[in-house]
Amino acid sequence: MKIGEKVQWNELLTGGVIEDPGNSIDYKTGSWRIERPIWNKEACINCMFCWVYCPDSSIKVDKDGNMAGINYDFCKGCGICVKECPKPGALAMVLEADIEKKGMDVVFKETFGGK
Ligand code: SF4
Ligand code: SF4
Repeated sequence: MKIGEKVQWNELLTGGVIEDPGNSIDYKTGSWRIERPIWNKEACINCMFCWVYCPDSSIKVDKDGNMAGINYDFCKGCGICVKECPKPGALAMVLEADIEKKGMDVVFKETFGGK
C-alpha cells in the first residue's frame, strides 16, 4: 500500500486494537505529571466545575455530590481544573519537585497562606 493510493476498508492494515474496553483504570498515568493541582477544602464552594472540566475524571466526588479531592493516580497535571475553578484560593498548581523538596504541608501553606 502506498501513500495516496485508494484502498478498500478491508485492505487497511490493523492498527492499535483495544480488546478490553475500560482498561484505562489499570494504567496509572499520574506519574507523567510535573505539576499537580492542590485543593484547599476551606475555600472550595463545591461548584464542581473542576469535575466537569477534568479530562481524566480525576476529581473525586463524595456521596453527597461534593468535591472530595483529587485522584493523583490518574491526574496528569494539565491544570484545566485550576483554570476553570471560579473560587480564588480553592485550587492551585504546584511543582511536584517542590512537594518532593519541601513537603506538602509547607507547599500548601506557601500556596494558600496556611488556610
Ligand atoms: S490537573 Fe487536569 S487531570 Fe489533574 S485533576 Fe486537574 S483537570 Fe484533572
Ligand atoms: S472548581 Fe474550585 S470551587 Fe468548584 S468544586 Fe472545584 S475546587 Fe471547589
